[in-house]
Amino acid sequence: MARISPLTVLGVALVGGLWLAERARPLRRQTHSTAARQARNLALGAGTMLVVTAIEMPLLTRLAKGNVRARRGLVQVLPLPRPLQIVLGVAAMDYAFYWWHIATHKVPFLWRFHRVHHIDPDMDMTTALRFHAVDMLVSLPFRVAQVVLSGADVRILMAHRRFFDASVLFHHSNLALPGRWDENLSLILTTPKMHGVHHSKVWDEMNSNWTSGLSLWDRLHRTLRSKPQARIEIGVADAASLADLSLGNSLTAPFRATPAPLPPGAVSLR
Ligand SMILES: [Zn+2]
Repeated sequence: MARISPLTVLGVALVGGLWLAERARPLRRQTHSTAARQARNLALGAGTMLVVTAIEMPLLTRLAKGNVRARRGLVQVLPLPRPLQIVLGVAAMDYAFYWWHIATHKVPFLWRFHRVHHIDPDMDMTTALRFHAVDMLVSLPFRVAQVVLSGADVRILMAHRRFFDASVLFHHSNLALPGRWDENLSLILTTPKMHGVHHSKVWDEMNSNWTSGLSLWDRLHRTLRSKPQARIEIGVADAASLADLSLGNSLTAPFRATPAPLPPGAVSLR
């Protein structure tokens, strides 16, 4: 029988705990049917996971092995002790993703796919899975550059993957942390309140809080914003966003004319 690793057990326990916690302590009031929304998000997530497992990770693992063989990329050329190499490698990959996330909003072709994630009218853990499968293929050139430039080996690649996945599930969750935990945690990490602002329909708010891991990058580039969650309307302010929410329309939306999110000075939602 296959052995189940302690990390897998920990991962399942954390996901289960977070799933229960966001129900017990909701951060934002949900505005749409949760069951239907979650079913759609899980279905989209299944397609995404298929592409990541079958194509993305095997390719990136080969590249990571090649980084070590060719002494290629940032952490491979710096003479650092191993623990520092891992921390720097994960941080470099995280910083690269900050810029990629900005590109997915600013480049119209990339926004077509990223919009599928943003049109979710409520946010919870399942929103973290709501990505178009083709989005994973479109982002492959970035993923390749991310691994080659950072010089990640397989250990760093996997450490970043676990950090990224845990962070993405956590900051999309609808969990109200007790007291000032959210504010304090956001000094280092991306929190549900931080990322809630990024999912706002308001242009300036959506164009902030880009990081998916360390909050340092938004602090560094002064792109960090906060706002009381009760005043945030989650979703995308374009005329087709609710119509594109169904599973079928979510899958075809990137291949149709995609409305842009409201630019500054826009007077109409159309
Ligand atoms: Zn985004």
